[in-house]
Amino acid sequence: RKKVGKITTGSKELDKLLGGGVETQAITELFGEFGSGKTQLCHQLAVNVQLPKDQGGLEGCVVVIDTENTFRPERIVQMAEAKGLNPDEVLKNIYVAQAYNSNHQMLLVDNAKELAQKIKKDEGKNVKLIIVDSLMAHFRAEYVGRGTLADRQQKLNRHLHDLMRFGEIFNAAIVVTNQVQAKPDTFFGDPNRPVGGHIVAHTATFRIYLRKSKGELRVARLIDSPHLPEGEAIFKVTEKGITD
Ligand code: ATP
Ligand code: MG
Repeated sequence: RKKVGKITTGSKELDKLLGGGVETQAITELFGEFGSGKTQLCHQLAVNVQLPKDQGGLEGCVVVIDTENTFRPERIVQMAEAKGLNPDEVLKNIYVAQAYNSNHQMLLVDNAKELAQKIKKDEGKNVKLIIVDSLMAHFRAEYVGRGTLADRQQKLNRHLHDLMRFGEIFNAAIVVTNQVQAKPDTFFGDPNRPVGGHIVAHTATFRIYLRKSKGELRVARLIDSPHLPEGEAIFKVTEKGITD
């Protein structure tokens, strides 16, 4: 087993909650309602993974599997400039693929393996982060009704294991997003409610529930982590990106 690496989120509070940052060889699930900051955190991590190690990065590249067309290069530029990085260089290290349906989404993980090997061979660079934003959107849209649920869970399970395998091979972090409606108490209280919730809950190593607070403020809560104490962290989504 390779040594686990950690990527800073940009917020010291959130890093602390996570035990230092987003870990490699683990799946981190960001879940929460619309606008809670899931996609913003993904963008920030795609920038931060490129930072030198003494600044909380892993000097790595990133693969983004974008299922809802929410990847914004101009947002990366903003975040890169805020850190004094060259935005063109930062963008070059982010490999974005649009997933058109759930099968395609799964195929893109295979492709990511080949891509990561090629990047390593041709440029000597390592992919240290793979993002799926959103993990569930296609699955949710395609598998409706009770009869198809088992089918969907089985595929989702395979998808998550493929992602985990990618993380192990490349010692990369895996970050997935999952939209859920507000009312976390109902969410956690009702076992039938979360769509795709159970498989995701059992496979994800870190589950972070995000919710909106006043203005730029967001609250992150770590949910049933085996190694870390439960708790909350407050952070901000600003023009510069994720900060305390
Ligand atoms: P969804 O479930 O709809 O995908 P999400 O959790 O991914 O939602 P984000 O897209 O991460 O939500 O968050 C959007 C919010 O981030 C905006 O409402 C705004 O508050 C903040 N935001 C986005 N871009 C900027 C920016 N350039 N400057 C400041 N704040 C921004
Ligand atoms: Mg989003």
